Amino acid sequence: MKTNDIMARLRAKYPGENEYLQAVQEVLESVEEVYNQHPEFEKAKIVERMVEPDRIFTFRVTWVDDNGEVQTNTGYRVQFNSAIGPYKGGLRFHRAVTPSMLKFLGFEQTFKNALTTLPMGGAKGGSDFDPVGKSNDEIMRFCQAFMLELWQCIGPDQDIPAGDVGVGGREIGYLYGMYKKLARQYNTGVLTGKGSTWGGSILRPEATGFGALYFTQNLLHKAGKDIKGCRVAVSGFGNVAWGACKKATELGAKVVAVSGPDGVCEIPDGITPEMIDYMLVMRASNRNRVEDMAEKFPGACKFTAGKKAWSVKCDVALPCAFQNELSEDDARELKENGCWCCCEVSNMGCQPGAIHFFQHNGVLFAPGKAVNAGGVATSGLEMTQNASHISWSGAEVDAKLHFIMDSIHEQCVKYGTQPDGTIDYVKGANIAGFMKVATAMLEQGIV
Ligand code: GLU
Repeated sequence: MKTNDIMARLRAKYPGENEYLQAVQEVLESVEEVYNQHPEFEKAKIVERMVEPDRIFTFRVTWVDDNGEVQTNTGYRVQFNSAIGPYKGGLRFHRAVTPSMLKFLGFEQTFKNALTTLPMGGAKGGSDFDPVGKSNDEIMRFCQAFMLELWQCIGPDQDIPAGDVGVGGREIGYLYGMYKKLARQYNTGVLTGKGSTWGGSILRPEATGFGALYFTQNLLHKAGKDIKGCRVAVSGFGNVAWGACKKATELGAKVVAVSGPDGVCEIPDGITPEMIDYMLVMRASNRNRVEDMAEKFPGACKFTAGKKAWSVKCDVALPCAFQNELSEDDARELKENGCWCCCEVSNMGCQPGAIHFFQHNGVLFAPGKAVNAGGVATSGLEMTQNASHISWSGAEVDAKLHFIMDSIHEQCVKYGTQPDGTIDYVKGANIAGFMKVATAMLEQGIV
C-alpha cells in the first residue's frame, strides 16, 4: 500500500471533502509501514475497504420554528465500519455539518472505538441545523423531526447514536422520546448519553473530559511530570470543556483560559467551581458566547474579543472545541509562551502543521482519538448497564473509565515507542486502532 497512491485516488473521487481526506491521510501515513509487513492485509484490500463508509443515510428534516415558518435541514447517519461491533458514534448539530465532516468523524470513531477495548464499530451522524439562537421548543421540534427519519436506521444492537457538538442530554431526551413513539421499542440502549433516571450512565456527561485528564496524567507521568500545579488553557465551554476543567482543577491544575467563537476569557487565578457550573448555563442558553462568563464574574475573568485560548500563557493546552481549531501559528505562539504539552480533546482539533510543529519542537502531543475516547467508552459502559438492566455507581463507572484510559495509553506506548525511546502518540493510537479493525475485517472475509 502506498499512501500517496490511495490519497490521489480518494482526492479525485471525493474532491473538496477536505476533513475526510485529512483524517484518512493521517491514519494511512501512520500505518503504512506496519501494513506493508502484512501481505494478507494487502491481498484482502483492507485499506481500500476501510476508508469507505459501509453506508450513508441522507434525509430531509422539516420542522416549524417559533414564528410558524417552515424550516428545512439535511440529516445524515454515516455507518462507517462494523468490524468489531454495532455502529456507535455521536450526532453533531452544527451549521457547518457536511458529508465530509461526518465521514471524517465516522472514520476517526472507528479507530477510537477500537482503542476503548469495547466491542463497538464506528459511526457518526447529524445535521446542518444550527442550534445557536434557537428556543428550547425549537430544539425539541427539530429533534423530533430528525428522529422521524433516523429511527429506521438505528437499534440497540445495530447502531447506537449519542451526543457530539450541539447534542447533549436535552437533545438525547427529545430524540429518545420520539424514537419510542415511532419504533414502539422501549429498550433504552438505542441511544447513549441519556438522563440518569431513565437509563443514562452516571458520569457519562463528565466522561470525555475526565477521561482526557486521566490520559493526560498518564502521558505526563511517563514524561516524569505531573498535572498538579500546571497552568492549563482550554478552548470551548461545552460539555467536553466542562468535564476537562472540572477534573483538571480537581487534580490540582489551574485552568487559566476558556474560549468561545467570540474570544477568550483569561482567568489568572484559575477557574472556580462556580465558573465551571456556569459553563453549563452558557451551553444551555444557545448563545454561543464566552463573554457571558466575564460579565458574570467581572473581577476574576478578563474577556478579549477575537483571541483564542492559545494566546494565553500556559503549560498544557487542551483543545476541546472543534476540528482544526489549533493552527501551526497557534502552536508556535503556545511554544513561545512556554507551553510544553498539548493533548487534543476535540476530534482532529489540531491542523497537520500544528502537530508537525509540536512533534519537532519538543512539545508533548497526543491525538484526540486516544485522548477523548473516554466519552464513547462510557457510552459503551452505558450500553452494558442497559443490556443487563442494572445501574453502576459513580465510583464503579469512574474506576472502569480510569482503567480504560490507562489501557489506551498503554496501547499508544506499545505501538508508538520509537527507536530513540520517545513516544509518537499519533502513530501509537493509529496503529493500535488500525490493527484491531484490520484483523477483524480479515477474519470476517471479503464482505
Ligand atoms: N461524540 C463523542 C465522540 O466523538 C461520543 C460518541 C458516543 O458516545 O457514542 O467520541
